[in-house]
Amino acid sequence: MLSNRISMINACFVTLIISCAVTSSSADELLAVIAPNMDLKQVAPVPHPVPTGDARIIDGLENPDGEIGATEDSKFVILGSEIAKGTSTRLAWSTDGDTSDLSTPAPVMVIRGNQPGKTMCMTAAVHGDELNGIEIVRRVMFDIEPESLTGNIIGIPIVNLQGFHRGSRYLSDRRDLNRFFPGDANGSLASRMAYSLFHEVIRHCDFLIDIHTGSLRRTNLPQIRADLRNNAVAELTRGFDKMAVMHNSARPGMLRYAALQQGIPAVTLEVGESLRIQKDKIESAVSSINHLLERQGMYSRLFIWGEPEPVYYSSAWIRTERSGILFSNKQLGEMVEKGELLGTVTDPITNESGEIISTLEGRIIGMAVNQFVMPGFAAYHIGIESSGEVLAGYEENENPLP
Ligand SMILES: [Zn+2]
Repeated sequence: MLSNRISMINACFVTLIISCAVTSSSADELLAVIAPNMDLKQVAPVPHPVPTGDARIIDGLENPDGEIGATEDSKFVILGSEIAKGTSTRLAWSTDGDTSDLSTPAPVMVIRGNQPGKTMCMTAAVHGDELNGIEIVRRVMFDIEPESLTGNIIGIPIVNLQGFHRGSRYLSDRRDLNRFFPGDANGSLASRMAYSLFHEVIRHCDFLIDIHTGSLRRTNLPQIRADLRNNAVAELTRGFDKMAVMHNSARPGMLRYAALQQGIPAVTLEVGESLRIQKDKIESAVSSINHLLERQGMYSRLFIWGEPEPVYYSSAWIRTERSGILFSNKQLGEMVEKGELLGTVTDPITNESGEIISTLEGRIIGMAVNQFVMPGFAAYHIGIESSGEVLAGYEENENPLP
């Protein structure tokens, strides 16, 4: 046991020396480090982050138009490392500046296919308590053979390590990272992290899936949130087999919004509830992402899909009128009629009870788990089936709490 530990420490130390040595030469010669081809299934220490300024310069010289990996000859350089064709590797991202001594580098997994093509990015746990996405990224990444991939896949399983370690949605300064993109190099901790992630990783993406869960003890049916008024985004959503797709224009500060502003089609994938690992919902999301990879021409498993189509919804929330203990009569995914009983809220002190009646006909695509609620708490998110084209013509009337 002890000798295992010592050899692990030695391995880390050697990795550190190698990466430091290569880093100083790369700064002089403006050459990227060739990332080691690493079987992602292998257990190995995470490499030391390469100072990020280098990656920007190299990238600017090699790919002035930013078309990373799009042509046969172009280099795929990210986080100061060049990824060779048909290889996969683990890199590390950390924020520059004053906080770097205290920050923990976040692992970034990269797979470069043998054939040039698009780069798909997946980010998870931007909110540190949203765990389902971490497992979704793992399952997608570890099921790819690099030599059979067209294009590239970048996966960051835990963006907000600070929140993750504390089981919290927020950064250690209580800020919500998903309100600060694309960030500011000289701003708050959240703003600096957002800036660094956006400029070091996100701008390499040709499309982005940012994975979240419900917040405040609400659970979501696996669903895509997308601004369907953007044609490239609408087209992207069509690849997600039978997934529920909701029209929702992201707000400024969100990663999805910032990516779209940069011309990168981006969607939010909402899966389940925070602080839980939900196998059935994870499986459904992974299957949908694998379908997207097939539709994008990036990875074929020769599955017979039967061409299932996504289902498009507009949506609205039904709120509680009183405070008390919420008990639901309905399950996530159920269809409800207007006038149907959704649940009850009972005051634990007075024993007074009230019913929550559906004012809409549709499907429960998100709902609060049983808990103590206050008046006005958004308890049931009802999806009303529509078409993508119709939804693209409307503004959604309520923020669905990403
Ligand atoms: Zn979230």
